[in-house]
Amino acid sequence: MNICFIASECDPFVKVGGLGDVVYSLAKELVGLGHHVNIILPYYKSIKASNLEYVSQKTINLGGVYYDYHIYKTYLNSVEVYFIDQKTFFGREYVYGTPKGPYEDNYLRFAFFSLASLDLLSNVCRLPDVIHIHDWHTALVSVYKDLYFKHLDQTATVLTIHNIAFQGIFPNHILPQIGIPWELFNPEDLEFYNQVNYLKGGIVHSDVITTVSKTHAKEIQTNMGFGLEGILREKRYVFGILNGIDTDVWNPATDKSLYQNYDTSNFKEGKKYNKAYIKELFGLETPKERPLAVFIARLTRQKGLDLIDDAIDDAVKIGYDFIFLGSGDYYYQGKVLDMVKKNMGHVAARIEYNDVLSRKLYGGADVFLMPSEYEPCGIGQMIAMRYGAVPIVHKTGGLADTVIDYNEDKEQATGFSFEEYTYKDLLYAFARTMIVYQRSDEWDKLILNDMNSDFSWRKSVQEYIKIYKTAKLLRMH
Ligand code: ADP
Repeated sequence: MNICFIASECDPFVKVGGLGDVVYSLAKELVGLGHHVNIILPYYKSIKASNLEYVSQKTINLGGVYYDYHIYKTYLNSVEVYFIDQKTFFGREYVYGTPKGPYEDNYLRFAFFSLASLDLLSNVCRLPDVIHIHDWHTALVSVYKDLYFKHLDQTATVLTIHNIAFQGIFPNHILPQIGIPWELFNPEDLEFYNQVNYLKGGIVHSDVITTVSKTHAKEIQTNMGFGLEGILREKRYVFGILNGIDTDVWNPATDKSLYQNYDTSNFKEGKKYNKAYIKELFGLETPKERPLAVFIARLTRQKGLDLIDDAIDDAVKIGYDFIFLGSGDYYYQGKVLDMVKKNMGHVAARIEYNDVLSRKLYGGADVFLMPSEYEPCGIGQMIAMRYGAVPIVHKTGGLADTVIDYNEDKEQATGFSFEEYTYKDLLYAFARTMIVYQRSDEWDKLILNDMNSDFSWRKSVQEYIKIYKTAKLLRMH
């Protein structure tokens, strides 16, 4: 098949969160199975791409304004990647906004990108069987396609919702600027409480909707759709497909960032070595052996920092050390730094995005902390398990689908999960984890179960192929 991904992130060019991981690793997997995939991305200022080939200059009319842009192309392991270079929109320091908040013209930046991508794929690329769009940033692709690209009628659209909390909701007066007629501003379409909702438009106009775990597919149609439950229930084709991780990129046996590589045969020595180094790096030289819990995520409310803040003093008392690595909201940066101040010597943090450091932390951690309030899939916990860091998670979305709790099934267990989103439940999970940590045979078994878990794309890529075929069939009839 011929598939075109249109997305706002793609590792290693640009990654803010899990979306970046998924776009590239899924594309690579599809190419490995013989499919043709191209990816269209905005050419952000931060992107460093080698062997760029200049394709052409183009102009589009968006809401009566003409915008010029340039197209570049490169290859990444046989995946064809196109960049849309429009300096006013994408020549900025950040991807979505500064730590103070999102860029005010995001509605225009991503409307432009969606329209320009359709223009690019109709004129420059091979016409795809399926266009696969991701999150609100590219949701308008389906809307513009129905409005202005009738020659793409046979091309199906699949929309994957990676994080339904972000929907791209803007005041309705922007409609003329983004070239969308007022007829579409109704409750069956883009209208949402008298505002314009990009994701809702994408849901209505796409052939098939997917989200990133089976549990989350149910959640978004019942209690966690952030207002879109009804429209999603009306959709016939809503599926949950668990994300995979690229097991070549995330491999403790070969990861060059680690102080010492290890696999299932020597993880005890390997992890011990890495732990000692990162503790030194972060100034956590506690003399007694204590489990090291690591948190690596965007610093936002979603990631459970309020619970951690309430539980951390007691967790330190019962014997944990902590390292935080994250960037994001000022409010949560402050919270993390306060936790460090209050627990000097046992809690340390770096407020930054740092891939190399994250790898060292996955390698040296005993415990990986991910008590997210909600989590569509979660990549962090899968990477952690592959690196033998035992996860403590809130039982929600993809965390519920990937972590087997110790109390549920001791033989198969891969971590610890808690049901109620309260700090007491988190603290109880810390306590349960500590008991098993002290029984070294049982702990090692947990680590082995983690490292032996299969989080590759092997299964999920087949499910995507089935969905692409379904979407294509729907278009043909
Ligand atoms: P989300 O998509 O909500 O951000 P995921 O768990 O799905 O969360 O994906 C997060 C990805 O981003 C993981 O690969 C994680 O390692 C990475 N990541 C998050 N914060 C940082 C950071 N500060 N430094 C390095 N990597 C990070």
